[in-house]
Amino acid sequence: MTPCSNNSDMLRKLLKQFGIEDDPRWLAIVLFVRNLVRDLSVFTSKDKADIQQDIFCELSAKDFSEERYDNVISKLDAFVTRNTQTAELQNELDAEKRSTEALLDEMHETIEALRHSGDRQEDKLQEAQKSTENAIHQAKDRDDIVAKVREQFSSLVAELREEASEWEARAKRLEHTAMFDPLLTELHNRRALDARLVETAERFRREATQVTLMMIDVDHFKPINDTHGHQVGDEVLKKLASIVSSQAILFDGFSARYGGEELAVLTEALTLNEAVFKAEVIKRDVEQARVIPHVKDYDGGELSFTVSIGVAAMAEGWQASDLVRAADKALYQAKENGRNLVIYYEEE
Ligand code: GH3
Ligand code: MG
Ligand code: MG
Repeated sequence: MTPCSNNSDMLRKLLKQFGIEDDPRWLAIVLFVRNLVRDLSVFTSKDKADIQQDIFCELSAKDFSEERYDNVISKLDAFVTRNTQTAELQNELDAEKRSTEALLDEMHETIEALRHSGDRQEDKLQEAQKSTENAIHQAKDRDDIVAKVREQFSSLVAELREEASEWEARAKRLEHTAMFDPLLTELHNRRALDARLVETAERFRREATQVTLMMIDVDHFKPINDTHGHQVGDEVLKKLASIVSSQAILFDGFSARYGGEELAVLTEALTLNEAVFKAEVIKRDVEQARVIPHVKDYDGGELSFTVSIGVAAMAEGWQASDLVRAADKALYQAKENGRNLVIYYEEE
C-alpha cells in the first residue's frame, strides 16, 4: 500500500476526482477527520494522526460504496468510543454533517435555479429580438423605430435587473448558510470563527490592536439533556445564543458556536477589564433568563441555567491558537472554582 499523506492538496484532489463534493455523507467524514479531530483536545496527537491516516487511506481506495461507508463509520465509531467524551464527539459529527448538508442542499437548489434562469433568459432575449424586428417592420419612420426599440430595451433591462437582485439575495443566503450555525442561527459557525481568529491575529501583529476572546460554556448542560431530552437542551442553547449575540452586537463582538454547548465571542473593541465586565453582564443575563420549552409532551415548567466564562487578551508573540488556549484555560478555572463565574487568564 502506498503511504497516505493528509495535506490539503491531496484532499482537494480526492474530493474532485471521486465526486465526494456531491455526497454530504463522505464530505462530512472528510471534514470531521480533518478539522474536528484535529481541534479536539481529548485526543493525543498520535491518536489523531492514526485515525486520519487510516481514514484517508480508506478514501484513496476510491471505493465510495455503501459498504465502504459503513466500514469507515464503524472505524470512526470505534475510535470515538475509545474515548471518554463519546457523546460530545458524536454531537460534533452530527452538527458538522447537518451544516454540510444544509450548504449542499442550498447549492444544489441554486444550481438548479441557475439552469432554469438560463433558459428563461434565452426565451426573453429571443422574444425581445422578435418584437424588435416587428417594430422595425411596422415602424413609420426612423424616430418611431428608435422609440420602439428603446422601449423594448428598457423593459428587458428592467426584467433582467429584477432577476439580478433575486440572484444577489440568493448569494447572500448561500453565504449565510456557509458561515452561520444551522441550529443557533444568530451565531457564526466554527469555520467562520477560525477564519476570523486568523485575520484578527494578523491585524494584532500589524497594528497592535486590542483583541479579547470570551469562551462561554453552559454549566451542567448534560443533566438538562438527560432529564428533559435533547430538544429541550436545544431550546436552552437557543436562549443562550440570543443573549450572547444581542450583547455582543453592542460591543462589536463576533459571536460564534465554538462547538457543542460552547460559544465564543471575539472582539477588537475592549480591554481585558472591559471584556470581563461585558462577560459579567452576559453571565447575569443568563442567570436571570427563563426558558419555556415549546417541545411536545414537555411538562417540566420554566428552566433556568448558568454559564461559566473564560476571558483572555491577546499578548505579544501569540498566535490565534494561543488566545483560544488561554481563554479555555480561564474557562476551565471557572468550572473548577464552582461554575457560574467569569475568570480571566493571567500569565503564570
Ligand atoms: P460542565 O458544567 O462541566 O460544562 O458540564 P456539562 O454537563 O455542561 O458538560 P459535558 O461536556 O459533560 O456535556 C456537554 C453536553 O452537551 C454533552 C452533549 O451531549 C451536549 N450537547 C452538545 N451539543 C449539543 C446540541 O447541539 N444540543 C443538545 N441538546 N445537546 C448538545
Ligand atoms: Mg458545559
Ligand atoms: Mg463543554
